[in-house]
Amino acid sequence: MLDFTLTEEQLDLRQKAREFAVKEILPVAWHYDQRDRTPLQVIRKAYDAGMMNTNIPKAYGGKGYGLIENVLLTEELAAACAGLSTSIFDNSLGLEPLILCENEELKKTYFPKVINDFKLICFATSEPAMGSDVSAIRCLARPEGEDYILNGTKYWITNGGLADYISVFATVDPGSKHEGICAFLVEKQWEGVSAGRTIPKLGQRCSNTVGLNFTNVRVPRSHVMAEPGKGFLLAMKTFSRTRPMIGSFGVGAARSAMEYAMDYAKKRRAFGSPIADFQAIQFKIAEMYQKVETARLLTLKAAWEGDNGMDPTLSASIAKFYATEAALEVVNEALQILGGYGYTRMFPVEKLFRDIRVLRIYEGTSEIQRMIVSGFAMGKYQPAMPALDELPIHLERDFSVSDEKTAVWRCPMCGHLHYGNEPPEECPYCFVPKSGFKRMSTGD
Ligand SMILES: Cc1cc2nc3c(=O)[nH]c(=O)nc-3n(C[C@H](O)[C@H](O)[C@H](O)COP(=O)(O)OP(=O)(O)OC[C@H]3O[C@@H](n4cnc5c(N)ncnc54)[C@H](O)[C@@H]3O)c2cc1C
Repeated sequence: MLDFTLTEEQLDLRQKAREFAVKEILPVAWHYDQRDRTPLQVIRKAYDAGMMNTNIPKAYGGKGYGLIENVLLTEELAAACAGLSTSIFDNSLGLEPLILCENEELKKTYFPKVINDFKLICFATSEPAMGSDVSAIRCLARPEGEDYILNGTKYWITNGGLADYISVFATVDPGSKHEGICAFLVEKQWEGVSAGRTIPKLGQRCSNTVGLNFTNVRVPRSHVMAEPGKGFLLAMKTFSRTRPMIGSFGVGAARSAMEYAMDYAKKRRAFGSPIADFQAIQFKIAEMYQKVETARLLTLKAAWEGDNGMDPTLSASIAKFYATEAALEVVNEALQILGGYGYTRMFPVEKLFRDIRVLRIYEGTSEIQRMIVSGFAMGKYQPAMPALDELPIHLERDFSVSDEKTAVWRCPMCGHLHYGNEPPEECPYCFVPKSGFKRMSTGD
């Protein structure tokens, strides 16, 4: 069964998120963007409105939203400001390893903390010298008695300067690559944890991004989310469930840019008529609409797979790289439709343009997503068609008279098919000798 209908609850959630985004995020976004500041009070409002920590399962007192609900919610918030929505969504990212891990005591301790109180939790895999290659983590977790001692630096950490808790990925041995990776839940107030200055960025300037340093931080074993050797998989599983939402950032931002462009095109006149009357503009709008729609469907498909017990890794990668790249194209065309005004800070597209550029980078770059998809396509993917050298391309066979029992021989080079009990002395097209011909299966 295939069904694109959203439930009443999902429609209500989308409407609620849309109203919140327009009322609470949109009016303040440019102000904070200009000042490189993250308005904690707006994130707090999102918490109060039930738009954060939505992935905590009901069994632990959470909302237990599925990925579909989170995708719907994220599109609406990102439509108002991709930067602020990154900071709002960051708690879901920071919590996902805890949700996926097997440490029940840790779950029972920390889920109530973020549900009952406004607390931020960030996610830290990246470091100054590594990002894409998670197996190359250098932040060291040295076992000492019942504890681990953490030393190293994490970089690019969204909300790192504001967070109360950190999901940290580290290694017990940088030389052992994947086998050494482990994960911990660390409190920011613990001795030895410090945050660097806010990193100055092109866009998403309403979202706090910093480096975090760990100097001899003592982490009790009770805070282990992944034992050494299990951390890499935990990080990958986390990304499979959060990448659809990165796609939704793209969908939301692209949708806004498209709406602004349509509005502008109806009002702006050139050569005696609204520019919306020109087919060149109409075709741009059609392509923008097509991309927004396609991107949304892909993010929803990935979310649906995750919600229905399937491994969403592949769909999440496709959704992420399609939606984030489509968003860049849509926003770019929207800017073109707004002409010179599109390039100014008095109109919204300039900020959208800056904000969405990073979507192709964080949570796995477009290149990494392509590696995941091509790895599957060239590996596990099961083709429906026969292999090329098994293809029955019968150009010379007369099906009305030929005896189907006649053997068929294929030239391995040019594909010529020869009918007869023996292969030909040589290929009449490319001269491959008789010995090179391969008898084809006739399927009976
Ligand atoms: C605003 C912002 C917020 C972020 N928030 C977080 C956060 O909260 N937590 C966190 O842990 N990280 C965060 N990051 C880090 C982000 O996930 C990394 O920047 C990203 O994974 C890429 O890593 P890198 O920057 O080290 O690039 P690199 O890994 O050094 O890659 C550089 C370039 O080489 C390409 N490349 C690398 N390997 C290959 C390959 N094998 N084949 C082809 N191309 C390749 C990459 O695609 C990229 O184009 C954030 C980054 C930004 C900019």
